[in-house]
Amino acid sequence: MSQGKLIVISGASGVGKGTVLKLMMEQRSDLFFSVSATTRPPRPDEVDGKHYFFVTTERFQDMIHRDAFLEYDRHNDYYYGTPRDQIAEKRQKGHVLLDIEPNGAKMVRSTAPDAVLVFIMPPSVEELERRLRGRGDTPEDQIAMRLDRAKWEMEQRSWYDYVVVNDDAQRCAQEILNIIG
Ligand code: 5GP
Repeated sequence: MSQGKLIVISGASGVGKGTVLKLMMEQRSDLFFSVSATTRPPRPDEVDGKHYFFVTTERFQDMIHRDAFLEYDRHNDYYYGTPRDQIAEKRQKGHVLLDIEPNGAKMVRSTAPDAVLVFIMPPSVEELERRLRGRGDTPEDQIAMRLDRAKWEMEQRSWYDYVVVNDDAQRCAQEILNIIG
């Protein structure tokens, strides 16, 4: 059986990637989420092993040394990486969705040139800031840092395969599903 595709979905924090990904997976049974490892502490609604594997910095660095990551990056003060082991297994069953930022996306593109890279834009920067604050679970100093980072991330969209706008989560999810085919 041929392998499923690697679908990279990037977009600034607060752009609504989580909702879009959830809607996509509700509509298709052949899509599998790549669960990243991170050293960031869990948010109240996050489940270990489902949203992320929450690990210590020591463990994360040990995984780097063992070449256990398809890609990884350090941003917003924390490490984030895609463990390799789950990817092959999930690609036997369908397409794999990676919610990762541009540095990681670049690493995926160089190691897996057939990966499909999609960048999600907010309707505007003002709307992104409103959404970041509205979530209410991010401290103010981190909001400023994330906004700076968001601006840099949005500049990176030029080298992605597709750029979509999340003006409406359902419409955006459908647009990405059409891209996947
Ligand atoms: P958050 O802390 O809001 O869950 O995620 C912050 C950023 O980290 C998001 O842009 C998300 O796409 C990115 N991210 C999550 N997991 C990974 C990963 O495994 N690798 C990389 N490079 N970025 C990730």
